Amino acid sequence: MAVITPPKYVRQVLVTLQGRGYPAFLVGGCVRDMVLGVQPNDWDICTAALPEQILELFPGSRLTGGRNGTVTVRIHSHDLEVTPFRDESRYTDHRHPDLVRFVTDLTADLSRRDFTVNAIALSTDGVVSDPYGGLADLRRGVIRCVGEPERRFDEDALRMLRALRFSARLGFSIDLFTMEAIREKAPLCATLAPERVRDELEKILLTKNPDKALETVELGLLDAFLLRRLPGEIPERLDALPRRMPDRWLGFAWLLEHYGCVRSAEDFLRALRLDNRSIHVSAQAAAILNQPLPETAKDWKQCLRRSGIEATVCAARCADAFSLSEGKNRDVKAVLKSGECFSLRQLAVTGEDLTALGLKGRAVGEMLDFLLDYVIDYPDNNRRELLLSLAAGTEE
Ligand code: ATP
Ligand code: MG
Repeated sequence: MAVITPPKYVRQVLVTLQGRGYPAFLVGGCVRDMVLGVQPNDWDICTAALPEQILELFPGSRLTGGRNGTVTVRIHSHDLEVTPFRDESRYTDHRHPDLVRFVTDLTADLSRRDFTVNAIALSTDGVVSDPYGGLADLRRGVIRCVGEPERRFDEDALRMLRALRFSARLGFSIDLFTMEAIREKAPLCATLAPERVRDELEKILLTKNPDKALETVELGLLDAFLLRRLPGEIPERLDALPRRMPDRWLGFAWLLEHYGCVRSAEDFLRALRLDNRSIHVSAQAAAILNQPLPETAKDWKQCLRRSGIEATVCAARCADAFSLSEGKNRDVKAVLKSGECFSLRQLAVTGEDLTALGLKGRAVGEMLDFLLDYVIDYPDNNRRELLLSLAAGTEE
């Protein structure tokens, strides 16, 4: 397994804090990933220093975590988050603590963290603090709450989706009691901001275990967005889709539509506050999947014309992945590679050419549509002179 060590600038911040007498540790995702031999996304530091003490120690740093006290330290062109040890209490909105207190004890800080595998701290001299058995859970491949699961999900409902996310990302199972608590507390997910739910779902969808997104449905975590849950086991698998967007959003949303869990893929993605472009592409692609799929090159060109390249290609890949078809992705790619015309942009004449011929207003658009239909049928005839003569009514 690869041995991962923190970069120099991270060590520099740790050593500087310790040099001033403030205990400081690597913590959270970076320690988890180091143990697993995976390169961490980012390096998080926790320390006994208070926000103002961190700010004073590192010129150019700034308070970015509001009342959580997180300070972003700018060092050798890197941004590093340094967070004072804190504990939290009372979460009336099931998401944010009402009270945050800075403390001097590392274990208290680790106790507020969500899962044992995220609650391990590591000092510069290699000493590991693991009061909740995170290392053992990493070895066993288990996601388990720190403390009593029901209470932890009551405090912050997002943790239920995070459990599914880490389980998907790491390929870990979820501890039995943690899972029972998820089933029990699932309705609290209705209180979460849709954007938070979207972000977690997107992360799940982009892992190598995207079918965990379907599990969030079965567990009731998405009830607030659904008419009903999936009707038991379904044959389609999201991991058959390419590991990218918009494919996986489309695949997920379309399955929900197909099984009657949402009114439409578009509605679902809109409720989750996806950006307009992704919603548009997925809606177009879902419409393609809901009709008989194109068969011939001509059908594909009409589809590309109507729905655009991204939605058409995405629908073709999705259809193949869900075994609605075979080789559709190959077929659409062949059409694109042929360079044959399917859009006004590729047409050998423009609206200006037609205006020069004397056409006006709506007649210009209608003629362009007619010519595009024509070259979709006769791709070799996408030639300026020929189309102009056709438009002028003096076909050669
Ligand atoms: P990633 O690699 O995806 O960034 P991560 O474990 O670093 O994973 P973050 O969301 O960056 O996850 O959070 C950093 C750490 O903060 C976590 O490892 C965990 O210890 C703690 N944490 C984050 N969100 C929560 C939460 N909602 N409840 C409790 N602890 C949390
Ligand atoms: Mg992180």
